[in-house]
Amino acid sequence: MITDECINCDVCEPECPNDAIYMGAEFYEIDPHKCTECVGHFDEPQCVQVCPVACIPIHPEHVESRETLWQKFERLAAAKAKAVAAQSQAPSAGA
Ligand code: SF4
Ligand code: SF4
Repeated sequence: MITDECINCDVCEPECPNDAIYMGAEFYEIDPHKCTECVGHFDEPQCVQVCPVACIPIHPEHVESRETLWQKFERLAAAKAKAVAAQSQAPSAGA
């Protein structure tokens, strides 16, 4: 999660491999359904690594085991592959 100490510096958002970070009403937020704590991509959470004000703690309501995070990574990867496959099969405009 991102706390209200966030200064909206925009640094974390492009670093997320899961596109889980987005601009909320007042400051950046993390979609917990998309965040794998970077499991499957990196050894350390990338947003935490780059945040200059250290305002990205683990959400107390979303404490997840590495196994659970890995399963989430696999679900997200499968959904992404499916979306890409569907896109490549869609007829192109004017065809
Ligand atoms: S921990 Fe990783 S996956 Fe989660 S929001 Fe940060 S960069 Fe994205
Ligand atoms: S890196 Fe930290 S301060 Fe900057 S936008 Fe992300 S959460 Fe906010």
